[in-house]
Amino acid sequence: MALLRNVLIFTFSVSFVTFVAFFGRLPIFRKTPIGWIHLILFVRIPSLFAKFDSYFTNGRIASTFSRLGNYLINEKHPLVIIFFLGLVSISAALFLPATWPLLPLHHKLLIPLLLPLPYLFTYLSAKKNSKTYITPANHSEQMRLYPYDRVLFYPEVTCKTCNLLKPARSKHCRICKTCVARMDHHCIWVNNCLGRGNYRWFLALLLSTGILLAYAAFLAYSVIHPRAERYYAQHERWYRYKNQNRLDGWARWGDTKWHYLTTYASIYIDVGGVRASGVGLLALLTWPLPLGLLGYHIYLIWAGMTTNENAKWADWRDDMADGCVFLGHSKKVERIQAGEALERGVYGKKEEEKEDPAEPRTSWPLESRHVLIRTLNGQPPTRLPERIRCVADEDSFERVWNIGAVENVYDLGFWDNLMEALR
Ligand SMILES: [Zn+2]
Ligand SMILES: [Zn+2]
Repeated sequence: MALLRNVLIFTFSVSFVTFVAFFGRLPIFRKTPIGWIHLILFVRIPSLFAKFDSYFTNGRIASTFSRLGNYLINEKHPLVIIFFLGLVSISAALFLPATWPLLPLHHKLLIPLLLPLPYLFTYLSAKKNSKTYITPANHSEQMRLYPYDRVLFYPEVTCKTCNLLKPARSKHCRICKTCVARMDHHCIWVNNCLGRGNYRWFLALLLSTGILLAYAAFLAYSVIHPRAERYYAQHERWYRYKNQNRLDGWARWGDTKWHYLTTYASIYIDVGGVRASGVGLLALLTWPLPLGLLGYHIYLIWAGMTTNENAKWADWRDDMADGCVFLGHSKKVERIQAGEALERGVYGKKEEEKEDPAEPRTSWPLESRHVLIRTLNGQPPTRLPERIRCVADEDSFERVWNIGAVENVYDLGFWDNLMEALR
């Protein structure tokens, strides 16, 4: 029983720390216990350790670790893909031979359909994508996808590395060494940036992995449970006797349910063996991770933003709370529905005007009506920078406290956002 308890505590702790490592940095967890634990575990403790190390060994340990960590986090390498797909392969190789003869036919048909999906979607997310990477060849097409909102993205900003104008919603990735269209984030899990061309494959990877893990946990349960029932029925008196006579703290709970739970858990491991019950337990504890991350991305889609933009909005929100953000109204823009615009020939009329190559016309149905500006002293802006003066009057600026007052031009409503993300 002590072994079981240790295994459970260990697996729960690893799952929790993995969760905090992956999600603790997200703006949604700022100023929550998850965010604090992330800060302590992954920022404070390492920096404390670095201080000790520089005092005692002149920083030798830290420099070795930081080189390793730097390589793992800041370089392109397939180690995480190998680890992930290796874990899936090893788990399947342990689990399937042990359970296959006991599975009903419909599961034997379903498994070959589900198991290859994480491999397929990892491949599709990881491979170089001509829509995701911004190149001189596709640059003019990329410039026409999204308008500059003048909140998160401004025209006439050049990427110094790629030497190209940055399209709205793009970001340069120093790991992939390219500008990425509709940048979501650089994902070390798939060793690639997730952007316009491969974001949907990443969502499919999360969904298929979550389903596969939950399914594996269910299969382990459905195979082991009937055998564990029989086993328990045969040995019931002995288990009751054993649990009544235990003196450690766990048995003092004395509760029948607890008795069943601990007894069953140990029987599961006895009856299922490490192959079925071990893999089943791993799947049971990890299936919420990919689905939790998928849930977060569905929230982002609902809000009409990428992970990159979510962080930018969170910065605005923090500055708004400090009272140093001002909202101005764009002079030139009114909300135009794409259909109406085509009908009224608005785009047709515009075509005659000379087009600004730094801000070409886009196919996006909305244009931004708002402009945001931060001031260092918290006073209303007095001299507007040129990039803002050309679209908004100084006297149109008002202090804004709430992010909800600012339009997100990239938000078309949940359904259209979803279609846009999956396209
Ligand atoms: Zn770039
Ligand atoms: Zn990248």
